[in-house]
Amino acid sequence: MFSKRTRIKDLLQSDNVNFQATVMGWVRTFRNNQFIALNDGSTNNNLQIVIALGSLEEQLLKRITTGACIKASGEIIASLGKGQKIELNASEVEILGDSDAEKFPLQPKKHSLEFLREIAHLRFRTNTFGAVFRIRHSLAFAIHSFFNKKGFVYLHTPIITASDAEGAGEMFKVTTFPLDGTAPTNDDGSINFKEDFFGRSTNLTVSGQLEGELAAMAFSDIYTFGPTFRAENSNTTRHLAEFWMIEPEMAFYDLEDNMNLAEEFIKYIIRYAMDNNKEDLDFLTQRLEEEEKQKPQNERSEMSLLQKLEFVVNNNFERITYTEAIEILKESSHNKKKKFQYIIDKWGIDLQSEHERYLVEKHFKKPVILTNYPKEIKAFYMRQNDDGKTVAAMDILAPGIGEIVGGSQREERLDKLTQRMEEMHIPTDELDWYLDTRRFGACPHAGFGLGFERIVQFVTGMGNIRDVIPFPRYPKSASF
Ligand code: ATP
Ligand code: MN
Repeated sequence: MFSKRTRIKDLLQSDNVNFQATVMGWVRTFRNNQFIALNDGSTNNNLQIVIALGSLEEQLLKRITTGACIKASGEIIASLGKGQKIELNASEVEILGDSDAEKFPLQPKKHSLEFLREIAHLRFRTNTFGAVFRIRHSLAFAIHSFFNKKGFVYLHTPIITASDAEGAGEMFKVTTFPLDGTAPTNDDGSINFKEDFFGRSTNLTVSGQLEGELAAMAFSDIYTFGPTFRAENSNTTRHLAEFWMIEPEMAFYDLEDNMNLAEEFIKYIIRYAMDNNKEDLDFLTQRLEEEEKQKPQNERSEMSLLQKLEFVVNNNFERITYTEAIEILKESSHNKKKKFQYIIDKWGIDLQSEHERYLVEKHFKKPVILTNYPKEIKAFYMRQNDDGKTVAAMDILAPGIGEIVGGSQREERLDKLTQRMEEMHIPTDELDWYLDTRRFGACPHAGFGLGFERIVQFVTGMGNIRDVIPFPRYPKSASF
């Protein structure tokens, strides 16, 4: 059988020697016509393959180049050299796929992340991206495992939606109409979507929450984990046009239950990665330390990546209200010295990421949960507090990233909900199906959305969100 091979990770983990093995993978380097560093993606570590001088034909040796795919068989022996416990003493080498060394874009040297983004189809074959995407996998697995243990139902909400009422972000349109100006129109010249594929105007989803709430009103606890799309023209290190979101929605939860779940959830998945991706996290920690050395002393972070993760799983998140946050920010010397781009002068303004990061990184030095925001800057479905001014919202802010979670207790009172929708000019007839949950057996409920790439960024320490999703989509970029 062709695929009878041993994974390099399994070989490196075992203490056995003196047995025959076959490995397959991609050549990272080939030194002195003798030593191949082979990687098969199962681990960041390479297996050293030793070729006895004169044992292979010159013609074959020439084809062992960086990037080539090979199959090697031989005896696993205790390594004579430094840097590895074992190596494979090759008796047979077969080239599965040649790689022209002159043309292969990944040379065995340090490449910038920007350059690697341009060759995203090949960047999986670097140590950094190998580590990032193995961790991404682990976090995804941990998310399902967390909710499964708690009895949540995994709900697949639609990707094509007709509701554009949520206002979470600009939407991408979905249509089969031609774009050359020949689409059917109404008398007033507007596009006649009644003749379009779905008989109405449709978009790519910005959030599965509204549909999630419907299911929570039957299963009690559900979560979604799927792609979401926002045509926001923001060229930041934290925004993508296509990203993955996890949205749990729970019946019989108030704001505090919601915060408790979110905090437990984040700690669980970070802990899972720490337990299961130790090598990759060690590698990324080291990588970050080297990156930090380029910065001036006072800009370097006090903790290493691993220390930061350890700290987050072992300490309570700070919980404060929006009003308290505004006071802290207003009184901060940063604000008084006008170091913020947006000066904090009054209650009611939306916080910018510079403010969020100040609270988390400078003031509290730990993750912060901000609650009870002014209703004017939050969505219509958030539960109105008795003060008439604020809603039962909560955002979780993480060091280095800013907002990673946005959530709230939902407004379950039909009259309050419809009143708020009218105030915000949200058509109630289009969302009649949503309002039905408030008509038939409503209950207190809550939920939140965690941006998957933001938590992957946090755990891997990667500075740019474009480097934690395999093929990032952002303004002017949809390659691969
Ligand atoms: P931000 O203020 O950072 O733009 P938001 O308030 O628009 O976030 P929500 O609508 O509450 O965010 O979405 C829930 C979560 O989804 C956010 O907390 C964040 O983790 C993530 N998220 C939002 N927009 C993006 C995006 N464009 N790219 C990646 N993740 C995102
Ligand atoms: Mn946004």
